[in-house]
Amino acid sequence: MVLFGSNDSSQPNSEPSARYRQQLLGSEMQLSPLPLPFAGSTTTESTPQQKTSPSIEPSDTIETAPIKWRSERIKAGDSFAIAMQRLGHSASMVANIMLTGPAAQQLTHIKPGHLLELYETKTGLEQIRYEIDPLTRLEIILNTTPPKAAVVDLPVETRFRHASADIDSSLYLAGLKADLSDALIMELANIFGWDVDFTLDLRKGDRFTVVYSELYLNAEKVSDGQIYAAELITRRRQIRATRYEDKSGAISYYTPEGKSMRKAFSQNPLPITRVTSRFNPNRLHPIFKTRRPHRGVDYGAASGTPVRTTGDGKVIFKGKKNGYGNTVIIQHGQRYTTLYAHLKSFSRKLRQGSSVKQGQTIAYVGQTGWATGPHLHYEFRVNGVHKNPLTVKLPPATPVKPNEKHRFLAQVKPYIEQLDTLSSHQLASN
Ligand SMILES: [Zn+2]
Repeated sequence: MVLFGSNDSSQPNSEPSARYRQQLLGSEMQLSPLPLPFAGSTTTESTPQQKTSPSIEPSDTIETAPIKWRSERIKAGDSFAIAMQRLGHSASMVANIMLTGPAAQQLTHIKPGHLLELYETKTGLEQIRYEIDPLTRLEIILNTTPPKAAVVDLPVETRFRHASADIDSSLYLAGLKADLSDALIMELANIFGWDVDFTLDLRKGDRFTVVYSELYLNAEKVSDGQIYAAELITRRRQIRATRYEDKSGAISYYTPEGKSMRKAFSQNPLPITRVTSRFNPNRLHPIFKTRRPHRGVDYGAASGTPVRTTGDGKVIFKGKKNGYGNTVIIQHGQRYTTLYAHLKSFSRKLRQGSSVKQGQTIAYVGQTGWATGPHLHYEFRVNGVHKNPLTVKLPPATPVKPNEKHRFLAQVKPYIEQLDTLSSHQLASN
């Protein structure tokens, strides 16, 4: 029986995957399905119905076989061996399957809810498919010599969309009104979060527009794609952002002129720094003599040394915080917060809610709270999770490199033009 064609060896296995990954990253405007590594031209493997209805029989061009694909959802607590046993296959069969190639290792960490499919004929088990994620599948062919196992990227289609909505009460509700997914709304907030305080700066009648993509597998949406361009119009200003993948493959959002949408962080909150205690999840606390995580970095400094904020942001806490003593917490964009503790005193101008610029003095080193001597305790959180401030990957804030400016302008031009078109439609309809 020939299900995948006798010419699979002529199908390069790695090349389509690499191209797919690149397309998933969205570097290409127009996507077309590429051949699957195993799907030779003699099969119907890549026809649309195959992917959404896995139980549908692949048409066998050689002989007429009865429908044999069996589908099974992995259950909680299943190992591959347990699932196979339930489907009537022996431990030795499982062992053979595991020997089909490195890709078969995917079966050592199968997840509940994912689809396992078996193709069985009178002669036995011939093929196995396992859904790694909605866009990737493990395919094992047993009835070839030698057997084959490969991780296959399914042929996704990128569809471009745009949405606009007036903001009545919040960006989130406006996003929902425009049918955007939660994840896409969060991404939109992340893009503009360095420039806009969503609770204070937005007013009724402000408006956003977004050009984005969605990934489809056989006419069924499988995931969000990316935001390619976005615009926020408030009473005071118009902000635009566009996505750019530079030559090294790094993706970031920029203004149409090529400035980063993000703002820079400096590594240190003190001008001259001496680290006295590092980030350590298992530290013996100097006062309590017990194991307590040290979720920040301590900088030794004389009492009264000015403490500077490491990035532009907004003061979200200023006051006493038990063991931390006098503390300042600053929110930077949507994802980042920094915390400064054991402070002797605060900068006089500093208020909760006030904006601060990178490098601005916010407070002075002290030893309030649980501290054995004057030092600054500094924390860096990403989405609320403590990161080591000395090693955390800080978001790039550099503009597009001068030698990539032409490339940048060419890549973002269609998105900016689309924003222009959408904006002019809005004006016309107002
Ligand atoms: Zn500390």
